[in-house]
Amino acid sequence: MNKTLLAFLAHPDDESFGSGGTLAKYADEGVDVHVAIATDGAAGSVADGYEGGADGDNGGHDGLAAVRLEELKTAVSILNATLHPFNYRDSGYIDDPANDHPDAFINTDMDETVGRLVTLIRKIRPQVLFTHDETGGYYHPDHIHCWKVATAAFHAAADPARYPNAGEPHQCDRLYYTAFADTRVKWIMRLMRLRGKDPTKIGQNKDIDLTRIGISPSHLHTHIDYRPYWNVKLAASACHASQGGGGGFTKWLPMWVQKRLFGHDTFIRAFPPTPDGFRETDFWK
Ligand SMILES: [Zn+2]
Repeated sequence: MNKTLLAFLAHPDDESFGSGGTLAKYADEGVDVHVAIATDGAAGSVADGYEGGADGDNGGHDGLAAVRLEELKTAVSILNATLHPFNYRDSGYIDDPANDHPDAFINTDMDETVGRLVTLIRKIRPQVLFTHDETGGYYHPDHIHCWKVATAAFHAAADPARYPNAGEPHQCDRLYYTAFADTRVKWIMRLMRLRGKDPTKIGQNKDIDLTRIGISPSHLHTHIDYRPYWNVKLAASACHASQGGGGGFTKWLPMWVQKRLFGHDTFIRAFPPTPDGFRETDFWK
């Protein structure tokens, strides 16, 4: 059986900063790995010290979108995956004025967006589909919207009555949501407080509150060990120079601590329905 995996994620960098280790691992093991990125990432702020070509003549929204697409292409090629950019306009974080733009991903027509993902699913016919969870990890509206779109597309792709002109129906075997344990987040918060940092105001815009992040470990069904691919993930993340190249608020931790704390990706297995406490270490087992 040819194994095929599709990840549907919100922004250029989520495929690397988020699940890059898992994607690199499966690609290296011979799985046909596909990455669909919903938005152009152009509402993201540019990292401190970044001197790439996001402004000037080519500037503003379109300039940053073009830069981020190039970064994304390089990162996905390092992960050994195939890229499908959906190129919706990036929405911002909660209360960002970018969220009011009529073309923002979160405001686009749900039927049309789900239809595009259904078309892709029916074309590449993955056994495994994964996306963000219902909290979006940190409540980013684009992440939450991916969860809605991908969950709808997972079911619609299998239903011959839906999108009859979008290809042969296809039932993916598994649907996963990326998520992480609140216990892991508590460790990070403890380390941050020791360094005198405030875990309620993190990220480029200081608008992310770590105390609201993470779920009970009993809901995390799938634990993928990607430590052998740690450096591949770092290399893919580094391609996103306009976004700081990865690591973010944990960059100050020694590398061995980071690898130990973050060398596993965790997922909720949404389909087939899975009881709390169930554990697996592979999407295909
Ligand atoms: Zn994102």
